[in-house]
Amino acid sequence: MISGPHFPLPANEPEVSFGAGTKAAAELNKALENRDVVEIPTVIGGKRYFSNDVVEVRAPHDTQRLLARIHRPTEAQINEAIASANSVAKEWAGLSYASRATILQRAAQIIATRKRISINTATVLGQSKTIDQAEPDSACELIDFLRFNAYNAQRVYAEQPLSVPTAVNRADWRPLEGFVYAVSPFNFTAIGGNLTTAPAIMGNTVLWKPSEKSALANYIFFEALEEAGLPPGVINFVPGDAELTTRVAMSSPDLAGIHFTGSSAVFQSLWKGVASKVESFRTIPRLVGETGGKDFVLAHASANPSEVAIALIRGAFEYQGQKCSAASRAYIPRSLWAAVSAQLRDRLAELKVGDVARPETFMGAVISQASHQKLSRVLGAAKEDSAVKIIFGGRTWSEPGFFVEPTVLEVNDPQHNLLKEELFGPVLSVFVYEDNEWQETLELIDSTSPYALTGSIFCTDRFALHHAESVLINAAGNLYLNDKPTGAMIGQQPFGGGRASGTNDKAGSYLNLLRWASPRVVKETYLPPHDWQFGV
Ligand code: NAD
Repeated sequence: MISGPHFPLPANEPEVSFGAGTKAAAELNKALENRDVVEIPTVIGGKRYFSNDVVEVRAPHDTQRLLARIHRPTEAQINEAIASANSVAKEWAGLSYASRATILQRAAQIIATRKRISINTATVLGQSKTIDQAEPDSACELIDFLRFNAYNAQRVYAEQPLSVPTAVNRADWRPLEGFVYAVSPFNFTAIGGNLTTAPAIMGNTVLWKPSEKSALANYIFFEALEEAGLPPGVINFVPGDAELTTRVAMSSPDLAGIHFTGSSAVFQSLWKGVASKVESFRTIPRLVGETGGKDFVLAHASANPSEVAIALIRGAFEYQGQKCSAASRAYIPRSLWAAVSAQLRDRLAELKVGDVARPETFMGAVISQASHQKLSRVLGAAKEDSAVKIIFGGRTWSEPGFFVEPTVLEVNDPQHNLLKEELFGPVLSVFVYEDNEWQETLELIDSTSPYALTGSIFCTDRFALHHAESVLINAAGNLYLNDKPTGAMIGQQPFGGGRASGTNDKAGSYLNLLRWASPRVVKETYLPPHDWQFGV
């Protein structure tokens, strides 16, 4: 059982309003104008390392604007970071759970108060998020992860075996034997915070490789952890080259787990890397990966077309479609398509794409030149494709940043790649189905894409809705009924998907925390038998 303070079930952190005239907006605007360039070091065992191997971080929507320089570690330093994590592991695991959780609650308070503006600013500028998208991520969700994990870890520790009148049994919830390698994506600042602190709250030490695209906001969170009193070495901040850092991490016999969020291809390569040398590790590494999606919106003929159109706009185009949960394929019945497509055209024409610092902007830039080039190529090919009709958008431009217009494509071939592949940008592909082909459409959605992350069904016919839910039982780890497929809240919709979308360990829930513990079960007999015969 746990000792120490009890962390109550938290409420979700409320969003601060950054509306015109608010104090928060004034503070944010001032911070957005600050042109200081941040030097982001590698931090090992609390020591900062600066190097000549530097990667620049620039605002995706204003590529002239230099925000930070990442000082990447050498191979020797990555090894040193692993040694640092190992050296503090015993002491960290030996602290009471309540002490570890208290440090993380302090970090949550720091983000909720004095670092709220700076981490939001870094997310707005570094990842090209509007403040409407940054605040729920880099403040609220990050805080929620820290608070809900403290509450949920107690549920894990409280899980104990049965004891009987002749013996007492207990589970010692040990951390894994070795370090956890946390590899985080660019698109949510909060995710890096969870990939590291979920294992840490369970007593593990961590090697953290953030995405270079979000390193600025991630570093601000790392500083909050230090300020909160996280002992040096428990989490080591190693913003290194991805392949080098992974090679070094995998060459250590102490690699005990990988906590990954990012693309399916990278997670599959990590899995193969571990599998190919599994005998070299002291303990079989736990592999937790939440990965890509090709998330669907299905409308039934009974749905309200304006509700469908709004869900598509918000689900597909908020944060430029760069959410793993973003709606990227839609299945609309012929009877609703004229109304839905007309609304999409009208509403999308009103949306502002541009500088995320401006309050009227709905969409900023995509994250990188590579993403911009890929999306430009895909949209160029779509224009030439006889199976594709452009309903809206299709343009891209690269001054002053990596912009892509919100784009809706009507795709006539249900097996088209546009309905299968994750593009991770503001591109929505729509297949219009015949109203009398509801069953065929359900089967099509289930079988078209390798992913199974999120999906949503708009339907007011309760029998049809029930049937769709059951046919699509394995098509999404997070299913939304009469709602857009994005915006999961910690505690309310534990998040993760199956098939090629990952291991579905539900970030932010006790299910994820279970992966970072390895219970030892101890039985103590009150009166050991003193004869070999049964019943004596
Ligand atoms: P990514 O796979 O390119 O990168 C993720 C992390 O892996 C980064 O830190 C990156 O540096 C690292 N990485 C890249 N190549 C690597 C390699 N060869 N070996 C080891 N590490 C490597 O993903 P991204 O572009 O940062 O994020 C977008 C992807 O993440 C999308 O596919 C999206 O669907 C997915 N995502 C999933 C979830 C979820 O919960 N399922 C949440 C957010 C993002």
